[in-house]
Amino acid sequence: MALSGIGVSRGVAIGKAHIILRGTVEVLESAIPKHLIEDEVARFLKAVNCARQQLEDIRIRIPENTRVDIAAFIDTHLLMLDDATLVTTPVDLIREHGCNAEWALKLQRDAVVDVFEQMNDAYLRTRRDDVDHVINRVQRILMDDEDQEDAHNGGVPMDNAIVLAYDLTPAEAVLLEHQGISAFATECGGPLSHTAILARSMQIPALVGTHGLQRYIRDGETIILDGLQGVLIAGADEQTLDYYRERQELEYQRQLELARLTDTPAITRDGMSINLMANIELPEDIDAVSRESASGVGLYRTEFLFMNRSKPPDEEEQYDTYVSVIDALKGKPLTIRTLDMGADKQVDGGNRRCSNPALGLRAIRLCLKNHSLFKPQIRAILRASAHGPVRLMIPMLCNTQELHQVLSLINDTKNALQRESLAFSPDFKIGGMIEVPAAALSAADFASQMDFLSIGTNDLIQYTLAIDRVDDEVNYLYDPLHPAVLRLIKMTIDAGATAGIPVSMCGEMAGDPRYTRLLLGMGLSEFSMHHTALQEVKRVINASTITSLIPLVQELLDNTSPGHIPSRVDSLNQNSR
Ligand code: PEP
Ligand code: MG
Repeated sequence: MALSGIGVSRGVAIGKAHIILRGTVEVLESAIPKHLIEDEVARFLKAVNCARQQLEDIRIRIPENTRVDIAAFIDTHLLMLDDATLVTTPVDLIREHGCNAEWALKLQRDAVVDVFEQMNDAYLRTRRDDVDHVINRVQRILMDDEDQEDAHNGGVPMDNAIVLAYDLTPAEAVLLEHQGISAFATECGGPLSHTAILARSMQIPALVGTHGLQRYIRDGETIILDGLQGVLIAGADEQTLDYYRERQELEYQRQLELARLTDTPAITRDGMSINLMANIELPEDIDAVSRESASGVGLYRTEFLFMNRSKPPDEEEQYDTYVSVIDALKGKPLTIRTLDMGADKQVDGGNRRCSNPALGLRAIRLCLKNHSLFKPQIRAILRASAHGPVRLMIPMLCNTQELHQVLSLINDTKNALQRESLAFSPDFKIGGMIEVPAAALSAADFASQMDFLSIGTNDLIQYTLAIDRVDDEVNYLYDPLHPAVLRLIKMTIDAGATAGIPVSMCGEMAGDPRYTRLLLGMGLSEFSMHHTALQEVKRVINASTITSLIPLVQELLDNTSPGHIPSRVDSLNQNSR
């Protein structure tokens, strides 16, 4: 019998099912007599304190060699327990409605989840999982549920068990990994949830959204979990088990092979050196970047520094943060993208009303309108450049007037810093992202006025094909191989070559090994991607010959009849080139 789910972390596991019986928390409403209301408030606050204590205990138990910064996830949950939304409002509700604490908390949970559901950003939308994890913890304490801490089974070893749960918090997932589980599947959760992200970082196969787990699987029976295909199999015969054992072996060999590549340079068979860099969102990501031997950071998305806070970081805070990243990179280049806020990435949780945010005041448009936001960042980046190789990258350029305005602001800032005797690098490089079709079509104009270009395929595809990148309904139209997209990419690469400046790619397409040969054949020699994709892309590069790819890719671009491009890309990948 097979159950399907969403595979969020690849790999195959075969092991005994370990079911964590813990479903949704059923809450009933009851009236509290007036004279007992303050007791009920006290009971609620005590439960919040107890939840805080539990989280602090878990934080202490996190093994030191944990690869992922799990403490950060737990801190997020602890912060929520200090937030008025989850603490003060339920207290007000208990007093107002004369209801039990559980019901007040449920009312507030529903209101908060409603707000999350309406968010434009798929990533932020999944943060409602965190809200549920925190609230369920408090609910279980209020209800005196003895199973509440059962997920990690008191810390006893669970060798190779496959954990099946209604839901797992990130903290539970990391503790379970340390107890030796081989995989997990949950009934709820999405691919962008923290627990899913963790599974990928910990490299344990995982499924989310696997409905029917608790109904169809018996505790202790042997099951197979395939994180690539998104399937969970019970009652498998010997033949099926053999097939998956072989897949496990292949996956194991793949991991070994990739790990061996870490210190190997990325060089094609015909000797062309390719620059493989990493994208980062937070300074903490630098550890992984160094571990994977990336040659630098090709995209630092600084907006994450501005999120989840009421006031933007000032110049000093930004300067300190950038310098800490530069120091950690030990001489490797850092590309700092200026604030790309607006549209799906709102500073204040998305309360700006705009009928079409992706086409509205976002990224460089927003910064040029709001100098009090932009100037401290330019100063901080310039000052940080005195500490190591830093490049400034402008997102979402659309016309050269915008570029001129930024260049003039940077010049003014340099003059001001000089007057104040504050250092910056004389060799400061400025580049721009090509992520709007208009910019790709004018790439030659941009290339002649900047030090480098970087192709942001996530947005370039969205704007070229007129599909919202966070709208599930039109996801099927998101096509990196659309001839129009490929032509714009090629125009940009060619414009950079003519102007003699480097062109890199930092959108998701750069980290997808299916497109590596195509991009090499188009002349791309700098890729920036999530650190987990680096070795896989390197493997393809090291097995490719640019001189034989160039004519094949040219032929592919010249013939755009339907079905031609995907099949030619497949054949580029299959043969040894
Ligand atoms: C892109 O658009 O491809 C890109 C890298 O930027 P972001 O995904 O941050 O918009
Ligand atoms: Mg973008």
